[in-house]
Amino acid sequence: MGTTSGTARACRMGIIAAALFGGLAAGRAIADPPAGTIDDPVIDSAMTEAEAFDGLRPGCPDAIRDAQRLFDVLYLGFDGKVHKGQIVAHQDLVDDIRHAFAVALREKFPIQSAVPVSHPRFRKNGFWDDDLSMEANNSSSFNYRPITGGTRISNHGYGRAIDLNTVQNPYVKGKLVLPPGATYDPRAPGTLTRDHPVTRAFVERGWTWAGDWKSPSPTDYQHFEKPERP
Ligand SMILES: [Zn+2]
Repeated sequence: MGTTSGTARACRMGIIAAALFGGLAAGRAIADPPAGTIDDPVIDSAMTEAEAFDGLRPGCPDAIRDAQRLFDVLYLGFDGKVHKGQIVAHQDLVDDIRHAFAVALREKFPIQSAVPVSHPRFRKNGFWDDDLSMEANNSSSFNYRPITGGTRISNHGYGRAIDLNTVQNPYVKGKLVLPPGATYDPRAPGTLTRDHPVTRAFVERGWTWAGDWKSPSPTDYQHFEKPERP
């Protein structure tokens, strides 16, 4: 009797547990944080096409805009979890960039974030602001804008340049360091060096690493570019 009753009780508990578990499973997307794995990454960016190009400078020619693609990238965050972000870049360079991110993930090279600079948190006076993106240690490519400290359109303006981990890999020109206060330490995680597999992944596909540039050019450790050949 006692046994039967115990079994019945256990059975009822099982049904209740299953109902509870089912309810939790149904609400999982809201309730539980992602596991931070390749199959269940932390989502850093999930912009729509319209959001990704919202606020683009009116002077940007249609041909340049139409050549850009919004795509997902996976990377290891500094928290040790796999994250999913997004890049906007020229259609011809999507494969190269995806390849470099795959190498970074394989090599456990941490990346802070990859969010298009059109995101509202990177807006200043309505414009996509490279300084705010750099201060956030954000990795990004397309931004129709002049070069830093000049008037010519940057290779970022064509989606043919990408900056990675701007805080670990600052832009240095004389005494000017961007983002302000950043220091370049080749031994720190997430820092690019000439021989790093991530740097090589770009260079082997015809990109230039601006960490090799010397005065009077800036030394721009975060920056890779692959301009269109004439
Ligand atoms: Zn750059």
